Amino acid sequence: MLSVNQALVQLMAAAKPVLPIQEINLATALGRVLAQDQVAVLDVPPAANSAMDGYAIRHAEAQSANQSAGPAKPLPISQRIAAGHTPIALQAGTAARIFTGAEIPPGADTVVMQEDCDASDSSVRICELPEVGSNVRPQAQDIAAGQLLLHKGHRLRAQDLGLLASQGLSQVPVFRRLRVAILSTGDELVEPGQPLGPGQIYNSNRFTMAGLLTGWGFEVIDLGIAADQPALIQSKLSEAASKADVIISSGGVSVGEEDHVKAIVEKLGKLDLWRIAIKPGKPFAFGQVMDKPFLGLPGNPVSVFVTLLIIARPFLLACQGISTASVPVARAIALFDKPGSSREDYLRVSSGADGVELFSSQSSGVLMSTSMSDGLVRQSPGQDIHRGDVVEFIPYGVLD
Ligand code: AMP
Ligand code: MG
Repeated sequence: MLSVNQALVQLMAAAKPVLPIQEINLATALGRVLAQDQVAVLDVPPAANSAMDGYAIRHAEAQSANQSAGPAKPLPISQRIAAGHTPIALQAGTAARIFTGAEIPPGADTVVMQEDCDASDSSVRICELPEVGSNVRPQAQDIAAGQLLLHKGHRLRAQDLGLLASQGLSQVPVFRRLRVAILSTGDELVEPGQPLGPGQIYNSNRFTMAGLLTGWGFEVIDLGIAADQPALIQSKLSEAASKADVIISSGGVSVGEEDHVKAIVEKLGKLDLWRIAIKPGKPFAFGQVMDKPFLGLPGNPVSVFVTLLIIARPFLLACQGISTASVPVARAIALFDKPGSSREDYLRVSSGADGVELFSSQSSGVLMSTSMSDGLVRQSPGQDIHRGDVVEFIPYGVLD
């Protein structure tokens, strides 16, 4: 059986970013993935401007005015410059009234903040002269034209949209959203809202899958439920392959007589991998259906959740063209004892100020363990965890 790492290496090698590029409006680009490097075309700020409300001066002049005997001589105010207005050159021996964000007039080199001045309408006396250059934000202090801003493969966050907007960009090139088809298999499944008959359970995996995939920025194509009948599964998987970039199913990949998914995948394509030494989620399958990547998740609800987060997510992000899809792992103090197993275990824990607490049931069918937890502790095969140990902790937030 492959280790989690071996499986990830195999999946990542199979991840092909082949999505078309779209030019979209910056206002709708949150969470989308850049398809080209973004290089600055402008200096930001485009000209030196004032960081304060105050008075723009030539430092040397103010210095000599302040050094002569007696109180500092007032400088006449020769112009008033508000943000958004163009200054004229500073007349010798004068100061310019200036406001935050306004352009520094040619000839001035320093802004004295108004709190350090004694001013009337027509003149200003500088009580405290700051160092030369103070309160001046130089041209290109933020961004210099030609500078690389964001890499191809970067997923755009709010602050990145702001950065691109500061360059005047209104359109950005992004990869089309990855289309992921999801299929829930099982004779026992009923959709929420329908009455529950004997032997039936509600289809929860559909919502866990769709929710995670949507949150990662993919377009979900929900193919609903397929009963455990080979012909039905085959037609759903073919439909999935014709509509989606990647296919994900839940259930039917274990060793029972009603587990038909693997055989159908082999019929329509090939199975590259089956079973990973992960807990929960061992019967995970990976292959191709009519040349589209196929990920077969086990049916148990917690297995679906964990294998999506740990195995499927990096693969899907890579297919979306995201350049770095690794999972950042934090550390935490274990507030529990747990003997290791032969597989890599992903324990559902809640985190508090003192460390992480184990949810009472770690069974793969207990969906409450996912809802009542803040993240996963990764427990290596054979690693016994003792209270007080520093353990690897993956908060759900880093998997958003
Ligand atoms: P399977 O992998 O098909 O053998 O399913 C394993 C367990 O997960 C069984 O108890 C199923 O009833 C349950 N299960 C399978 N699919 C779903 C689903 N979509 N929602 C909730 N439970 C499921
Ligand atoms: Mg089943």
